[in-house]
Amino acid sequence: MNSPKLIKSYVLMVFLCFLSTVSMSQVQPTLGGTSRMMNNALAEMNKGDFEKANNLFRQIIESNLPIPPEMPYYFAETLFQLKQYDNSANFLNKYLELNGLKGENFEKAKALESMLEKPLNEIKACQLCDRRGYKFQVCFTCEGAKDIEQDCNYCKAKGIVGCNKCVGSGLITKRNVFNIVEYHECDKCGGDGRHTCPICDGTKIESGTCRTCQGVGQLQSDQICNHKADEPRHLSAVFNRMRSH
Ligand SMILES: [Zn+2]
Ligand SMILES: [Zn+2]
Ligand SMILES: [Zn+2]
Ligand SMILES: [Zn+2]
Repeated sequence: MNSPKLIKSYVLMVFLCFLSTVSMSQVQPTLGGTSRMMNNALAEMNKGDFEKANNLFRQIIESNLPIPPEMPYYFAETLFQLKQYDNSANFLNKYLELNGLKGENFEKAKALESMLEKPLNEIKACQLCDRRGYKFQVCFTCEGAKDIEQDCNYCKAKGIVGCNKCVGSGLITKRNVFNIVEYHECDKCGGDGRHTCPICDGTKIESGTCRTCQGVGQLQSDQICNHKADEPRHLSAVFNRMRSH
């Protein structure tokens, strides 16, 4: 048997599984299903339905069955159409690495490679999106402020906490010289078993790093960035009024 080829397709499979971070529905394909799915995906690509093609390619990856050698190229092309440029480049590079000049779609792959240059550079230059080209959104909790006043985490916004010295009982035990257990009122909580929260001082509010965004002020989104800042809402309302005259 030609084991290098087997190893190659195994390596590709592992790589594709690794890349596929999007959780998909549980699909149990039948035997030999990957070539059928691949044909279906190609048909959807010809129809221009790249969303459907994308889903089919992801099913191929998640099937854990051997992946047709030309599949990474077609998947890269589909991802390019869906503007998922970073992921497209990943699959394209893997395709070229594994198939080299022998790939059926080598010429097309090189053409796609140069088509990817511009959008990838735009992503790199843009401050509004992450390195994969997905738009940052302003944190909905702190609205970009990074530090905020939020519910005290230590006391869960109750303002009081159970005493840890007496474990909430209000009493501590001591053995005297006759080895007899004596009970004393807890000096930390004055016998109450609980005391004012030491973090918020009973205010129930704690100011500090926003827990939603970890103090970054923005969050990742699944929206592909157009590398243009949003028009402020009040301005666009003004423009709309101007237009209506
Ligand atoms: Zn106590
Ligand atoms: Zn507190
Ligand atoms: Zn935040
Ligand atoms: Zn951007």
